[in-house]
Amino acid sequence: MHESFDIVGDVHGCLEELLQLITALGYGVERQGRDFLVTPPEGRKLAFVGDLVNRGPATPAVLRLAMSMERAGQAFCAPGNQDVKLARALQGRDINASLGLARALVQLDREPEAFRVEVEEFFERLASHYVLDGGNLVIAHAGLKERLHGSASAKARKFALTGQTTGKKDEYGLPVRYNWAADYRGRALVVFGHTPVPKPKWLNNTVNIDTGCVYGGHLTALRYPEREIVSVPARAVYSESRKRFLPHQGLAPHSRTF
Ligand code: MN
Repeated sequence: MHESFDIVGDVHGCLEELLQLITALGYGVERQGRDFLVTPPEGRKLAFVGDLVNRGPATPAVLRLAMSMERAGQAFCAPGNQDVKLARALQGRDINASLGLARALVQLDREPEAFRVEVEEFFERLASHYVLDGGNLVIAHAGLKERLHGSASAKARKFALTGQTTGKKDEYGLPVRYNWAADYRGRALVVFGHTPVPKPKWLNNTVNIDTGCVYGGHLTALRYPEREIVSVPARAVYSESRKRFLPHQGLAPHSRTF
């Protein structure tokens, strides 16, 4: 008997799209003041590939939703590099804030101090990645090589957060990433985000579901074990990508778009 998950790509503070997506997936959502009361469909859990925060319009509300679901045992949250940056900034450890991080910090300034502390603690206690469904499913922000699955090492954490780079830079000045998925031969399906792609990208037994919502693309979920893609379009371009990002018009077969 498989465990069932709805795995959500990089949210980056895109609350409206997240609400629309999980509603389409059958989750009941009730707003209670600033908080959310979520009722998952029978037998299903939500899982986030990370980068809940920064760049987008509503980082605090996205955090409230994800944190309350995690606390209630309704969701797994893998941390992303942007989540870690935000947590560090809240601890006063990152003073060179990028534009996207600065935007989230302004939003969080309007929240009570106790909430900011909760956010710090939340990211601190998350595992670097999750091995689920008896080892058949791995969720890690930037993906993970097979030999690091389930490892609590610093190496596994770093890989899961930011992937591996080749040491070279591209024409935009961004580090060239090592395409670990091309060499992946593992048994577990690895679901990840981190690098925006116009449509979900399957390679070997891996899938990248960061479809660049914050850049005007889509917010995407993978239903597991069904391997069905559900996407909602972004309502706006909230952030400009350094690389030109072209949202894809027609998604692959088996996709439902709302
Ligand atoms: Mn991201």
